[in-house]
Amino acid sequence: MEFIIKSKALYTTWVFYKPNRILFDTGEGISDELGNKIYGIEKIFFTHAHVDHIAGLWGIINTRNNAMGSRDKKLEIYFPKGSTNIIEYINFINKMNKRLRYEVDYIELNLSDKIDINSKRFIKPFKTRHSPGEISYGYQILEKRRRLKKEYRDLPQEKIKNLIVNEKVDILEDFCANILTISGDSLPIPPEFAKDCDTLIHECTFFDESDRKIRNHTSLRELQRLIKETNPKRLIIYHVSSRYNSKINEVKLLLTREFPKTEIEIIHPDKVMKI
Ligand SMILES: [Zn+2]
Ligand SMILES: [Zn+2]
Repeated sequence: MEFIIKSKALYTTWVFYKPNRILFDTGEGISDELGNKIYGIEKIFFTHAHVDHIAGLWGIINTRNNAMGSRDKKLEIYFPKGSTNIIEYINFINKMNKRLRYEVDYIELNLSDKIDINSKRFIKPFKTRHSPGEISYGYQILEKRRRLKKEYRDLPQEKIKNLIVNEKVDILEDFCANILTISGDSLPIPPEFAKDCDTLIHECTFFDESDRKIRNHTSLRELQRLIKETNPKRLIIYHVSSRYNSKINEVKLLLTREFPKTEIEIIHPDKVMKI
């Protein structure tokens, strides 16, 4: 299992990425659902300050302080720079929890920032388009890797071996693999941030575009266009409005037929899903 996700548009959204102990957003109900796993969270990244994405932070901070469990690990909380509502909320939490028995760091993120997760992986924020007056970010998890330079990729094994051993040619180059891209609440993200990624987690609040009154969330039609452009190996659709509960299977089938090379998952608004 890589992900534990709960997401219902307007109510609550959070995504726990287990391999790197990262949480994206902290919607309501998260502490109760994650239980003991909240001690394992090392970093929290906020996409924006809407209440369905931040309400559960107070619970996490408080539960981690009171319940049994290790308190020697610090918690790092990252959020878009200038997100005044998140700053207000943090000040409130600090006022209410004066005697924290573990370290919590709050870090404002610029778009040029890069946060190391380990020696190979790091996180980069990118700007998204959501609500006017509300700063919103999406995030990418990138991994530094080495691969054959383009001119050597089609050579047979023997020739490559010869190049390395006898001719001492440097046939490798550095590149960054896109492990995960997450949109947060947004209109379709710029395709460059999800091109050929392993997993794209993208919101699709509206299956039917005519239900959308203000253009600040993604529709199914827009998402289809984005999949075509980005070609992710796996797509996890989240932040779906619960008015479409009965349409989840139908839409999954439609997308699977249209994009047979992409593994499609849709987070059901009423379920906590493990993927
Ligand atoms: Zn939302
Ligand atoms: Zn929002």
